[in-house]
Formats: sequence, C-alpha cells, structure tokens
Amino acid sequence: MPFQSILEDIVQTLRPELGQEGRVADYIPALARVPAEQFGMALRTCDGQEAQAGDSATPFSIQSISKVFALAMGMRAMGEDLWQRIGREPSGNPFNSLVQLEAEQGTPRNPFINAGAIAVTDRLVSRGDAKAGMLELVSGLCGETVYFDEEVAASEAATGFRNIALGNFMKSFGKIDNGVATVLDAYFHHCAVRMSCLQLARATSFLSRDGLNPFNGEQMLTERQTRRINALMLTCGTYDAAGEFAFRIGLPCKSGVGGGIVAVVPDQLSLCVWSPALDATGNSLLGMKALELFTARTGLSVF
Ligand code: GLN
Repeated sequence: MPFQSILEDIVQTLRPELGQEGRVADYIPALARVPAEQFGMALRTCDGQEAQAGDSATPFSIQSISKVFALAMGMRAMGEDLWQRIGREPSGNPFNSLVQLEAEQGTPRNPFINAGAIAVTDRLVSRGDAKAGMLELVSGLCGETVYFDEEVAASEAATGFRNIALGNFMKSFGKIDNGVATVLDAYFHHCAVRMSCLQLARATSFLSRDGLNPFNGEQMLTERQTRRINALMLTCGTYDAAGEFAFRIGLPCKSGVGGGIVAVVPDQLSLCVWSPALDATGNSLLGMKALELFTARTGLSVF
C-alpha cells in the first residue's frame, strides 16, 4: 500500500478517538489553549517522496523536539567536546526531574531531558547566537522559513520555574558557563519554534539520510554522528516511556509536550505525527498509537 494511503487510513482509524483521552500540556499557559482535537501525520522518504494526512500543515509548538536540533548543532560545532558535561544514558525519570542531577553532580543524564538540553544550549550560547542559529538550522533543514512563537516563549519564561531551577542547579556545580537567564531565554525560544508535521518530517530527513540535508545537499553531520543521534532518540527520546516506545514502535523517536513526535527509519524515511493530548509521561497519546499502527502496517522497524 502506498504511504499516502497508509497515513490517510491511520488518521481515519484514530480520528474517532480524538478528544477522548489525555490532556493538553497545561503547565505552560500558552499551550493550554491549544485545541486538543487535532491530528496530523507527514513523512518524507529518502528519495524525496512525501505523504501527509489530517492536520499535517498546521504549525504547532515543537517543544522538546527542538532538543534534536540543538544536539545536532552542538555535535556539529563541538564534536566530542560536547560530551564533557552531558551523559548518554536513559534517565528513567520525568523530563524535568531534578533528582538525578544532585546525585550526579550537575551532569545531566542525556541531551534529551530538560537539564541536558539546557546544558547543550549553554554551550551553544558560548559559541554565538543560539536563538538565531536554531532558526537558521531548522529553516535550512526544511527548506522554508521557520519562526519562534514569541507568546509561547514568553509564557514559558514566566512559568518555567523548574527549568530555571535546573539551570541554577547546574550552575552551582560549575556546569553552566553563561548567565542562567541568557541560557534559559535561548532554551525557551528553542522549545517555542513553530513547525508543522510536514516541515518536521522534512527537517528530520537528514537523520534518515546519514546526515545529508536533502534541500541543499549539505552534509549536516557525519554518518556516525547521525547514527548516534538516532541511538539517543531510541534510548532517551521519549523520557521514561523510552522502553515502551522501543517495545511498541521500535524506532528512534523524539517527542515534545506540544504533542508532536518525530520518528526515523534509517535509510528509509522520517515521519512526524502530532496530536496535542498527552499521556502522563508527556508524550502524545494518539501520536504514539499512530506510530504503532504505522510500524504494524509497514513492518518498518530498526529491529
Ligand atoms: N518547554 C518544555 C519544558 O521545558 C519542553 C518539555 C517537553 O517538550 N517535554 O518543560
């Protein structure tokens, strides 16, 4: 069955479940206003075919999906040095947990929990304009100009006490070089990037193509670096649900509390699903079901 029909079929199958389970993230006031009953999917294959269904063109707050792009920027700019202050182990804890940080002297478990992404952002801030750099990167990766949702960024800045605590806590261990407010401003803006499923499927295409940007032919990352991002997505991309994602879906995935999830089938395609209602781990409920149906119907998996 062609991908277009598969996506349409999944959207049709799951649409009746819209609005039934899960809750839109409400700890960020600007996200609490997003209508829950939206659902889109899009994919892009390595040879440039695209397919999309449902609300695939509606922009949403990419939230923690930005952590993939921040990591790619960090790896590109710093290579192995990036890992001096950031681990590579699954946390088994919620994405905004403070617990492990104390036991591990301010070194975050991995770059995909909030503390890890804040540490990556600190390194990016040291190297230049981390905010403009993010927009430049994602715009170049999807072939369209991408913007921040300033309202979401301001809403996070006004209420992100736990992220500010994470920043200050790492700073107290000497693991953050710049002013915490400057680093958090960049981090909140990264989370507030607005993109659609189609733009995200395009922007993560390099992860299915050994690091090659399909829009300008640039080698974004080396093959090895790309493989490592995919490995981290599989083990850490969906927080304390990473085991469940590997079990049910079997693909590297990265989620965000805006309800988006990106998934990669190396050497084949990149995929994005979006539906704003989340489960208790902060992952899109319908998005997870959609990915499960997708892998069941196509037989695609890294295992
Ligand atoms: N901006 C969110 C936060 O920092 C990102 C979390 C997420 O998407 N899991 O809390």
